[in-house]
Amino acid sequence: MRSLLVTTGLIWAGTSPCWAQEVASLAAEARQYVAVDAPIVALTHVRLIDGTGGAVRTDQTVILDHGKIVWLGDANRATIPAGAKALDLEGHTVIPGLIGLHNHTFYYTNAPRAAQSNYTAPRLYLGAGVTTIRTTGSTSPYAELNLKAGIERGSIPGPRMFVTGPYLISPGPDVRIDLLGMHPLTSAEQAKRVVDYWAEEGATWLKVYTQLTRETASAIVTEAHKRGLKVTGHICSLGFKEAAELGFDAVEHGLINDSEFDPDKKPDLCPRTYRESLVGLDLVNDPRVRATISTMVNRGVAMTSTLAVYECAIPGRPAPDPRVWDVLSADARAEEEVRRAQVAASASGSTLPAVYKKAMEFEREFVKAGGVLAAGVDPAWSAPAGIGDQRNLELLVEAGFTVPEAVQIMTLNGARVLGIADRTGSVTAGKLADLVVLKGDLALHPSDIRNVVLVFRDGVGYDSAKLFASVRGLVGLR
Ligand SMILES: [Zn+2]
Repeated sequence: MRSLLVTTGLIWAGTSPCWAQEVASLAAEARQYVAVDAPIVALTHVRLIDGTGGAVRTDQTVILDHGKIVWLGDANRATIPAGAKALDLEGHTVIPGLIGLHNHTFYYTNAPRAAQSNYTAPRLYLGAGVTTIRTTGSTSPYAELNLKAGIERGSIPGPRMFVTGPYLISPGPDVRIDLLGMHPLTSAEQAKRVVDYWAEEGATWLKVYTQLTRETASAIVTEAHKRGLKVTGHICSLGFKEAAELGFDAVEHGLINDSEFDPDKKPDLCPRTYRESLVGLDLVNDPRVRATISTMVNRGVAMTSTLAVYECAIPGRPAPDPRVWDVLSADARAEEEVRRAQVAASASGSTLPAVYKKAMEFEREFVKAGGVLAAGVDPAWSAPAGIGDQRNLELLVEAGFTVPEAVQIMTLNGARVLGIADRTGSVTAGKLADLVVLKGDLALHPSDIRNVVLVFRDGVGYDSAKLFASVRGLVGLR
C-alpha cells in the first residue's frame, strides 16, 4: 500500500495540479469569495445535467463530503447526513465544473494588446464555473507557473491549471511572434532542448502556432511524448490530417483553422487565404474531409472548439453579453468597440458567416464520427475569460448539439483530453466535487449558463457574483 502511495506521488509530483483544497488552507484573499465552506454539503432538489451526455434528471440531490461527490439520486430517496449543510436549490440546475481547453491567462485585443491577467483571469474563470483550465500558449510562462502555484497554495482563487509553456513556432512572418512572446525554433535539436526545458519547469502540454515545418513539429512531438507531455496546435503550415499523422494529441479551433483544403496549400507553408476554400466544402461527401476526420478519430486526436472567440470576427452576429462591457478596462473597451465597428462594416458580401456555419457543421460531423470535441475560450475581443466559456455553451447548442451534449463537450470531454476523467468532468460519486450551480433550467434555456450562482471546486463553494464584482473594469489591465 505504501509503495502504491509513493508511486502515485511520484507520478503527479511537480507537474500535477493540486487535487484537494480546503477552506482552512485558503489565504484571506481567496477565502473572501467562499460562500459555502462546510465539510459535508447537500445540494437538494436540483435539475442535474451530469456531463455524460445523458438525459436531464429532475428533483435530484447531490451530497459532497470533504471535497468529493459521495452520493447523488432522487431527492426523495436522499438521506442527508447529520451535520450536513443542506441547500434547497429548487429552480436551479447543477452541471460539472467546466473544463476550458484553450484558456489563456492573458487577454488580447487588436490594439494590439496582450495583457497578462494574473488578477482577472483566475477570478473570471472560477466565477463563470470553469474549475480546470489548460492554458494553450503562454506569453509569460513564469507568470503562469507562479499563478498555478499561487492557486494551489490557496492564496489566489482560481481553477486547477495545466500549463503549456510559450508558443512554439518556426521563424517567419507571423505578426504575433513578438507580441505574444513566442519561441522561434530553427532546428530539430533546438526543439528538443526547448521541450526538455519546459518539461522540467512544469509544463504538461505544449502549444505550437501557425507556421511550423514538419521536421520541427515531429521533433517536438517525439520529445514531448518521451517526457510524458502532450502537444496541441493552432497551425496553418500543417493540415489537421498531417498533424494527426505526425502524432499531435489535439488540434485547436476547428475547421476555421484547417488549411489543408486550400488548392494553393504548399508543404510546410501557410496558404494566404485558405478560409475561402471552406465555403463550398461538402463535409459529408468530400473524401478529403472524411479522410481527415477518420484519421483524427482513429489516432485519438481531440479537437478544441473555440466558437465564442471566432464569433467576434463574424459580421451579423448578436451583440455580446453585456457583462463583457462591465469587466473590460476603459482602454480595452475602446479598442474592442473600434474592432467591432470594423467587423460590422465588412458585412457586405462577407463569406465569413458561411465559414462559421461550416465550422459548426464540422464539429458535429467530427463528434458523429466518434471524435472527442472539447471547448475553450481563447480570451480576446468580446470573449473574455469565463464569459466566453459560457458563450461557448450557447454556440454549441446553436451548432446543433443538445444541451447535455454541449455540457459533455465542455466538461467530461475536456477531462478526457487532459487524462483526468477518472477524477473530474462529470457528476459521479467518487469524483471531485467540482460543480456549477446556476439559476434556471439550462436544458430549456441555454442562456441560463450566464446565471451561475455558486461554483464548487474540491467541495469549496465560491460566490460567482463576488468574483465577477472583483474584476469590474480590470480586464486588459491586470
Ligand atoms: Zn489561443
